[in-house]
Amino acid sequence: MYPRININLKKLKENCILMKDLAKNNGIDFIMPVVKVVAGDIKVANVFIEAGFDILCDSRLKNLKLYSSLPVKKLLLRLPALSQIKDVITYSDMSLNSEIKTVIALDIEAKRQNKKHEIIFMFDLGDLREGIFYKDEYLEDIKQIIKLENIVFKGIGTNLTCYGGVVPSKKILQRLVEIKKNIEMTFDMKLEIISGGNSSSVFLFGKDEIPSEINSLRIGEAIFFGKETAYSTLISGLNHTIFTLEAEIIECKTKPSFPDGEMSINSFGEKVEIEDKGLMKRAILAIGKQDVQLNNIFPIDNRISIIGGSSDHLIMDITDTDYKLGDIIEFEVNYPGLLHLMNSPYIKRNYK
Ligand SMILES: *Cc1c(COP(=O)(O)O)cnc(C)c1O
Repeated sequence: MYPRININLKKLKENCILMKDLAKNNGIDFIMPVVKVVAGDIKVANVFIEAGFDILCDSRLKNLKLYSSLPVKKLLLRLPALSQIKDVITYSDMSLNSEIKTVIALDIEAKRQNKKHEIIFMFDLGDLREGIFYKDEYLEDIKQIIKLENIVFKGIGTNLTCYGGVVPSKKILQRLVEIKKNIEMTFDMKLEIISGGNSSSVFLFGKDEIPSEINSLRIGEAIFFGKETAYSTLISGLNHTIFTLEAEIIECKTKPSFPDGEMSINSFGEKVEIEDKGLMKRAILAIGKQDVQLNNIFPIDNRISIIGGSSDHLIMDITDTDYKLGDIIEFEVNYPGLLHLMNSPYIKRNYK
């Protein structure tokens, strides 16, 4: 039964619908929901479909493959690797790209499979992850893309606040708008999608900072956790605790809080600072660093705290509580915590 992650599908659906409305009110017509954090979970994916989304985005083909039977488009977020072109065409309808050589390879394979593959070409507006650097020459690449018969050039996009921590603003997004205008003018065409980033761009909602040309965002964390990610502010009206973790106490004893003997390093090769607080009521829980990094989970009962752990054990200070052997402790989790927990085969999933 334990450890398990509780997943509130009803609250998640509410967030999907609220986020879609919120985006619409801010000139964003197409929200592309990013579900990579749930590692291919079908029940979660279905919630997005019930909420009316017609596309699912993931960074891993293996997850998109699990969604094969779902009646929506699939978008591959991470740039395709040349070694996986066949699977990209098989399991995704659309991908983000920044290398013309890769786009040409996708065209050849799409032809072979008798398919059309849609692409969004990525521009780096200064955050320094994927995309052509916005000051560099790109028209030659676009010219080639347009000629490819089995590639549909849907639009352009950017990704912010991922490597360099660059925060979206009207000034930064205007760089993408200039590129859009230049492409449309040069090739006498209209781009359908101008994808202005991820959950960090949600920070601009209500501020009149999103250029009207930006009509799409790719959003994960803001839907799953109800917060923007530029400054981690909670979005009012959305649910913030859709996922919780539960783990079981397998030892409950009062012991000294300071180790008794000569001290070196712990099982992870770290030297830990331990404060002597005298006798302490302590609990060991059956979960560990193999499942989640312990600084990404937060006990809901504020009388208790995590004091350490190893691969398979979590040690907590439960002084002044009456927790006992066999009791279940519940935690809130953050996005990286959820990502690891959903990827651990040792964590059960309990849908509500
Ligand atoms: C993960 C990812 C997103 C979504 O990021 P969130 O911060 O969860 O909204 C968007 N675009 C790309 C390319 C991604 O890899």
